[in-house]
Amino acid sequence: MISIDEAIAIIKDNIPPPAQAECPLDLAVGRYLAEDIRAPEPSPRYTNSAMDGYGVRWADLGEPTPEHPATLALIGESRAGLPFAGTVGAGQAVRISTGAMLPAGADTVIRVEDTREEGPNVLISAANKMGQDVRLRGEEFAEGDLLLRRGVRIAAPQAALLAAVGLEQVRVFSPGKVALLVTGSELVATGATIAAHQIRDSNMTMLRAAVQESGATLVSCARVSDDRQATIDAIGQTAAEIIICTGGVSVGRHDHVKEAAEANGFTPLFWRVRQKPGKPLYLARKGRTLLFGLPGNPVSAFMCFAHYVRPLIGALSGRAFGWPTLTARAAEEIANRGGRPNMLRVRTGRDREGGYTVSSGEKQGSHMLTSLAEGDGYVILGPGQSLRAGEPILVYSYDFRTEPTRR
Ligand code: AMP
Ligand code: MG
Repeated sequence: MISIDEAIAIIKDNIPPPAQAECPLDLAVGRYLAEDIRAPEPSPRYTNSAMDGYGVRWADLGEPTPEHPATLALIGESRAGLPFAGTVGAGQAVRISTGAMLPAGADTVIRVEDTREEGPNVLISAANKMGQDVRLRGEEFAEGDLLLRRGVRIAAPQAALLAAVGLEQVRVFSPGKVALLVTGSELVATGATIAAHQIRDSNMTMLRAAVQESGATLVSCARVSDDRQATIDAIGQTAAEIIICTGGVSVGRHDHVKEAAEANGFTPLFWRVRQKPGKPLYLARKGRTLLFGLPGNPVSAFMCFAHYVRPLIGALSGRAFGWPTLTARAAEEIANRGGRPNMLRVRTGRDREGGYTVSSGEKQGSHMLTSLAEGDGYVILGPGQSLRAGEPILVYSYDFRTEPTRR
């Protein structure tokens, strides 16, 4: 039996390099950059006005006041998308809109509020400094500057930045491909008629949702009975980067997942982790494919997914390997009275100072889905470890859409 940290280290050592693809911008949203992006052009691309007002030459203004305004001859207009073709000479000004090109000769913009038009002239009643309200070409970034780093997630702001510099395609990591294989002769689909001795298959629904939330692509999901050959065949027919099996991974006579994986050429990487729940967790590898054998208990399966599978899915999709976490203070005593590290299901809240609190539910049984559904995360307490009220603890969140916390 290995420790939680040892299991994580083995997983990290076996992450296959994530697949990449050149992708149109719209499809790249939600994915992670596989390349550094350098600016193909500067921003702003041309020197322009930050205000609606007048483009002028600073040297013409003197120190204007409302009583003694500077008077300039209005010679034209520069509008957004319709620049002024000429040059602003001594004593001249052009009307200018926000974002419009600053005409040659002008070096300063006077906002409309500090001006008044009178016949062919514009009167300037205030000016602060040369270059005011001018956005210089390249002042945000120059051509060749690093805009976005490899590994960054593309959301609306990053997509906009790429679009603004004319990049229609970027190289991103492809989402990991995941297959689900649920084992158990006692299982029936949720909607089916159920006999007294049967169990509704909740793992299928739960893990489909969890995989989807994690951003991976679910390529197949199937159910198989506790039959040696059927399990061998089912694994043999499954192709994915991550195969998630549930059930049949313990020491029972009808547990076939480990043997079936190895009959298909998988090499075991570990079996059994010193933890509660989820002790029988199994991992094997064949080439680029990693196969997890999660315990059948829905709570155990979920906790193993959250702590082991989800960060791997992230890494396979180009994200950092890790967990979304926060630090919270125990709202009351939380104790692990057992002899194994315990992943205790908890619920977080807020205290008056805006910090997080955490409390654990009464019912922690690994068959009790309410312990998951009523909570939003888990804490890991060592054997015999107990937290007094107010003690801080790291909480791992169940929200698989959230980025891992950087540490
Ligand atoms: P196993 O790991 O196959 O020994 O299963 C452990 C327990 O989890 C048994 O009580 C199973 O009936 C239950 N179980 C296994 N698979 C599922 C599933 N897909 N949905 C709900 N319960 C399950
Ligand atoms: Mg079973």
